[in-house]
Amino acid sequence: MTKTTMKAAAFKEKNGKLEIIELPIPEPVQGWVRIKVHACGVCQGENVCKFGSMGNTFPRVPGHEVVGEIDKLGDGVNNEDYNVGEFVGIGWFGGNHCGKCETCLEDEWAHCKKTYTCGVTYDGGYAEYMVAPISALVKIPKGMDPIESAPLLCAGLTVYNSFRNQNIKAGSLVGVTGIGGLGHYAIQFCKKMGYQVIAMSSGNSKEKLSKELGADYYIDMSKDNYIKEIQSIGSVKCILATAPTASTVQGLLESLGVKGKLVILAAFHEPFNANSLTMISGDKSIVGWASGDSRDSTDTLHFARNNNIKSMINTFPLEKANEAFENINQARFRNVIKLV
Ligand SMILES: [Zn+2]
Ligand SMILES: [Zn+2]
Repeated sequence: MTKTTMKAAAFKEKNGKLEIIELPIPEPVQGWVRIKVHACGVCQGENVCKFGSMGNTFPRVPGHEVVGEIDKLGDGVNNEDYNVGEFVGIGWFGGNHCGKCETCLEDEWAHCKKTYTCGVTYDGGYAEYMVAPISALVKIPKGMDPIESAPLLCAGLTVYNSFRNQNIKAGSLVGVTGIGGLGHYAIQFCKKMGYQVIAMSSGNSKEKLSKELGADYYIDMSKDNYIKEIQSIGSVKCILATAPTASTVQGLLESLGVKGKLVILAAFHEPFNANSLTMISGDKSIVGWASGDSRDSTDTLHFARNNNIKSMINTFPLEKANEAFENINQARFRNVIKLV
């Protein structure tokens, strides 16, 4: 008998835990495909789904670092574009940008109000199967491991795409704070893009790893004089703050050189204080960055493959999805749910 149901990890209610449920295997509608999920990375962004912050209904299956194999084509999906058996990925950008609004005309698809969010607007990758519109799909380059490439679709994309859009002169000194899920990618991307990299973290437990990943310098931010230590290395033109807190913003601003940019890549709840004089006297700026769209993900995957960017992951079975999600802050690197 053909299998008609599948296992998924879903938030059954607002602010609930991830629970394993049985759902019908979804059918792809016109312009969509069905994917047999091989792996899905675990991201803080799942909280948007959990808390219903963007108005999603429940139960909802989260997961927006999905890699899998196309299993069925919906009507209107051209065989020349996509084929059954082909490996594709989906990130936070879930397709459906309108192409007509001011934001789309500025080519900022990910910020279009009509855009879907994978694992929020529709069920995501914490499931054996999912369906998605082809406008959300990213082709996985040949030779890339499906499990290791999953976290590149949000964690990797966020650091690569935010940094490449800051227009920092090649060879400049740049910093990465927070050496975890995003930070371990940020060190590698910045180094391979031709920059000198300072890894910054509290304590020295991340020093050896940071250097192995390519960092030229390591700064222990728990030291009282860490700002002076950074300034003595040189003029830092950009800091990618992958795990910032309100209390670290001012110190990072002071650590920047003239025209330096502090790029905030993760949300924290408290408001922060930044000294206006620190910003004005050095022409410094604080920038936020979300992630990118499917085109940016394609660029991220190609850069990662061609430059041998390593994904440092811990894998979990689907049954342990809640554990993988709850322990995200303790994870040394990126948790990935492995389905195949
Ligand atoms: Zn994410
Ligand atoms: Zn639009």
